[in-house]
Amino acid sequence: MPASDVSGFYKKGIEERLQIVKGFAGLNDEEVNELRKFGAMSFDVADRMIENVIATQQLPLGIATNFKINGRDYLVPMAVEEPSIVAAASKAAGIARLSGGFKAEASPPIMIGQIQLLNVKDPEKAVAAIEKNSRTIIGLANEADPVLVKFGGGAKKIETRALDTERGKMVIVHLLVDVRDAMGANAVNTMCEKIAGKIEELSKGEARLRIISNLAVYRTVKSRAVFGKKALEESFKQGNLKGEEIIEHILDAYHFAANDVFRACTNNKGIMNGVDAVAIATGQDFRALEAGAHAFASLKGKYTALTRYRKDREGNLLAEIELPIAVGLVGGAVKTSPVARVAVKILGVKTASELAQVMASVGLAQNLAALRALATEGIQKGHMRLHAKNIAVMAGAKGKEIDAVAAKMVEEKNIMVDRAKEILLELKKK
Ligand code: NAD
Repeated sequence: MPASDVSGFYKKGIEERLQIVKGFAGLNDEEVNELRKFGAMSFDVADRMIENVIATQQLPLGIATNFKINGRDYLVPMAVEEPSIVAAASKAAGIARLSGGFKAEASPPIMIGQIQLLNVKDPEKAVAAIEKNSRTIIGLANEADPVLVKFGGGAKKIETRALDTERGKMVIVHLLVDVRDAMGANAVNTMCEKIAGKIEELSKGEARLRIISNLAVYRTVKSRAVFGKKALEESFKQGNLKGEEIIEHILDAYHFAANDVFRACTNNKGIMNGVDAVAIATGQDFRALEAGAHAFASLKGKYTALTRYRKDREGNLLAEIELPIAVGLVGGAVKTSPVARVAVKILGVKTASELAQVMASVGLAQNLAALRALATEGIQKGHMRLHAKNIAVMAGAKGKEIDAVAAKMVEEKNIMVDRAKEILLELKKK
């Protein structure tokens, strides 16, 4: 077995790195050539973004249509590997559009930086000293980022509390920072490191962790939309279900998620299908969004759905979502990834807050579409139609053969690679 302790891998050029990996994993020339296809992002750009680069992993970038948010039309770029997501978002946005589209709002872009203080002899006294000197601490934090301050952001507030743990009492300081159009992690982390010394002095403790919290409770986004009963009935021709019945089914599905953690988890996964796809398309830190969303979903002591549904006076479906969305238009990969730059331009958003409002609306559309499908025909029908195309490709179908093989498998309700190969052979014989 070859060894993985390759010394100085980062110092080697792309070809040498490829040869090392080729030898280690027994890749053939064809496989190495796949890795050499860098696409829109050159090796130089990729190698500056992360370490030890040998290739770029490419994802399909689709456009979700029909989105109207706060009266404005958007074409929404979504990068994701899973079939059905873009289609579902577009379909749900089309229904919402008939009742005016999504109404979204975002709170100010306040992120929390945390400083952990250990070995504090008198936690109460430390909390009081830090609070008393909060203006000085905020001023010091702002010295670390004059650019952010120039744009109207910067450190705004300090919150301090004692925390009981198995390793004794700690004092935890929260630095609240308005990060404007940045995601904010670097900005906040830098400030936390800058003020740590002063905080140690005031608390007579030892500052250890100094890091942003991804639970951005002050940076949440809300979006809501009305899904009309007639529109739901007409958009999804499914059996004999009337619009009112579809809405009842969706409400049953929602209340399942609101009260059951197993269902809530998958409900929220479906929401993040949309949120993450826009995040990846636009070069955002989707792990930060995931962590924040799921922690927010359990903030009231019970993990629950990030969406809410009820009927309005006319019996139409009123859908709402609220979640933290920390995204940026400056910093991170937004400006370095060439496709992300174009995706932001397609979207036409001018602020991070506007981007967050689009993402929340996409998450809501995604959830409505999933609940509608699950609560009526089940999701496999639509899913498998698209999945069949992947299976056809796996079986070796090319060009027009893909649709033909996929259609036949769907018709036969037998979507398997072996069957796809047989159909392909039959097609070729013809
Ligand atoms: P950044 O530091 O690259 O950019 C933010 C800076 O841009 C600000 O501090 C400010 O000086 C400047 N700026 C210029 N114009 C601005 C404007 N209009 N609004 C706001 N700032 C403006 O990036 P960041 O957003 O601070 O950090 C994001 C990166 O940090 C991401 O790549 C993320 O993956 C990474 N990160 C995340 C975590 C985490 O989430 N836990 C931890 C560490 C790093």
